[in-house]
Amino acid sequence: PLPAIRGDVSFENLVFEYEKGRPALKGINLNVKAGQTIALVGHTGSGKSTIMNLLCRFYDPVQGAVKIDGIDIRSVTLDSVRSQVGVVLQDTFIFSGSIRDNIRFGRLDATDDDVVQAAKAVDAHDFIMDLPDGYDTQVQERGSVLSMGQRQLLSFARALIADPRVLILDEATASIDTETELKIQEALKKLLMGRTSFIVAHRLSTIRNADRIVVLDHGSIVEQGTHDEL
Ligand code: ATP
Ligand code: MG
Repeated sequence: PLPAIRGDVSFENLVFEYEKGRPALKGINLNVKAGQTIALVGHTGSGKSTIMNLLCRFYDPVQGAVKIDGIDIRSVTLDSVRSQVGVVLQDTFIFSGSIRDNIRFGRLDATDDDVVQAAKAVDAHDFIMDLPDGYDTQVQERGSVLSMGQRQLLSFARALIADPRVLILDEATASIDTETELKIQEALKKLLMGRTSFIVAHRLSTIRNADRIVVLDHGSIVEQGTHDEL
């Protein structure tokens, strides 16, 4: 088992370029205390996903460092980074298999009971029980059994069961009916509790609830503060 971490995250003078001479991040400095929720906002191409890519260690910085609990993530194994940093992507990845397996994908040793608990916590249990075979219902990668909102709730259940200390969430932009929207907001609150979270935020409600909003522009942080301050 890996040592438990608190979940303090810092970006220190982070510089990155995908192509030589075209910096995507130009010296990002950001300190986040364990448990805080940070909303990342900014125009397309401003560097939001790039910061998250570096936090997952999909790439290494050209300069500077990403640290978790003060430790440069390059000095620990990829496995330990990936086990502590969870990602919920915009395009929720549903694979062909049962609903149960899709939730369990977050942690393969989870019991059936763990799966149900996670689904209940994000209010997905009722719609799952309404499906023809409940948790055993087979879904397809591109199938339409599930609505966008339902897919999102499943991805939250999957993240909840994985239980990472640091969570990255690329919020979906798809329009969702009001009732599902409220469910998602409630589920999100539960998912964020006790974790350090970075949300590439599109919903006003998410931005309003964040502890801090960080505004990016052309690879730099141009503003940050609470919703009231900005
Ligand atoms: P969006 O809101 O559209 O998701 P973003 O803020 O997430 O935008 P990034 O994806 O971080 O923006 O992109 C930052 C810069 O890096 C942009 O100039 C983009 O063109 C470039 N970029 C992103 N991914 C790659 C890549 N895989 N290869 C080359 N350049 C990339
Ligand atoms: Mg992006």
